[in-house]
Amino acid sequence: MAYWRNWSGRHSVEPDRLQFIRSEEDAAGLALGAQERGWTIRVAGAGHSHAPLVPNTQVIADLSALSGVISADQDHQRAWVRAGTPIYALGPALHQHGLALHNQGDIDRQTIGGACATGTHGTGRVARNLSSVVVGARVAIATGEIVEWGSGQACAGWNVARLNLGAIGIVTALELKLRETYRMAESAFVTNGDEAEARIPELMAENDRFEFYWSPRTDQAFVKRMNETAEPAQYPVAGEGKRVAWSFEVYPSDRAQLHTEMEYSVPMQSGPACFRAIKELITSDFPDVEMPVEYRAIASDDVWLSTANGRETVTISIHRDIHHDEGPLFRACEEIFLEYEGRPHWGKVNYLDGSQLSGMHVDWDRWWLERDRLDPSGMFLNDYMRSIRPA
Ligand SMILES: Cc1cc2nc3c(=O)[nH]c(=O)nc-3n(C[C@H](O)[C@H](O)[C@H](O)COP(=O)(O)OP(=O)(O)OC[C@H]3O[C@@H](n4cnc5c(N)ncnc54)[C@H](O)[C@@H]3O)c2cc1C
Repeated sequence: MAYWRNWSGRHSVEPDRLQFIRSEEDAAGLALGAQERGWTIRVAGAGHSHAPLVPNTQVIADLSALSGVISADQDHQRAWVRAGTPIYALGPALHQHGLALHNQGDIDRQTIGGACATGTHGTGRVARNLSSVVVGARVAIATGEIVEWGSGQACAGWNVARLNLGAIGIVTALELKLRETYRMAESAFVTNGDEAEARIPELMAENDRFEFYWSPRTDQAFVKRMNETAEPAQYPVAGEGKRVAWSFEVYPSDRAQLHTEMEYSVPMQSGPACFRAIKELITSDFPDVEMPVEYRAIASDDVWLSTANGRETVTISIHRDIHHDEGPLFRACEEIFLEYEGRPHWGKVNYLDGSQLSGMHVDWDRWWLERDRLDPSGMFLNDYMRSIRPA
């Protein structure tokens, strides 16, 4: 019997088939076979989404064997990479070619295909999310063909491929816009929630990349700054908040405590007020919350369905250990996020329907139009994606 579960165990399913994809031919063959048999397919990355994006009762495609750098062009700072490559393996492989990602998230366990599919991001007023660095994509679509789109074509296919929610086909490879390798120095200090909030503008202005975690039970805020440096790397790499090393060695942290997460993006200028409202809510109504609230920034982009589309953005994340019911806290926080024009992270929890999501994304209709053109029968949709599809 086949079985799939996500990282936290919040979602699990026994699909009819768990199909391992080892080549583009495998991917194309699976799509063609599914078309003939009327199966639905969802692709799994590393299963780190809290949203029900992967669960599917028919076919789940596992791309973990489709990994590695295909080609790298140091002069133009680009590389083609296989979509199943874990980000932790991508950093060292790109480094061999003198190249690096502009930014990364808190952890590096995701696959590059899964991370780009949901607009995964790190922090920094100058740093865009990972979908925005996708300049080319190869995809096995519903007909069983492999199509290749590039940014130069400015076509709808490429725009949907950049942040695709797993809904256009099996992405086999991505071309990424990269930069030269760089080292970063990370430093941290501890303060309280009010002080962290008051210092947001200053910390944002002084640091390329800054974030903080505020812990409701202790009112402690762990403030982390990451800046590029010419200092030599120091090995062994020290703990979080003290590292000087290559970028891909400094970005990731360990997130051992299994949890569920909600994250909303709000316009950058509303970030401090939104954080204050969330802090007041948690302090008064949910003082026992055992995990921190995280505050980060992302630069504006033009990616269809990106939470940072057209606006400088702050992201605020709420976490709950998996042994607690996250519902009451998350629903109360979501009301506040919506008051601040929030947009939910695609890989995390939200309780919105399609019409609410459509009102938040200017490119919603054309994203779905292109998706439906590529896959009219809905082969690459699951229950969740069908629930938000325009009528
Ligand atoms: C501990 C933890 C820390 C996190 N930290 C951050 C963070 O710092 N920043 C942030 O923005 N997010 C963060 N996330 C969220 C996470 O980055 C996203 O949910 C991401 O999409 C997970 O990638 P994955 O490889 O696990 O993909 P999955 O969760 O397995 O899949 C995500 C989506 O991608 C699709 N997909 C995956 N691969 C392919 C492919 N090859 N072709 C087509 N579709 C595909 C799937 O169908 C699905 O729709 C975190 C999550 C956890 C659990």
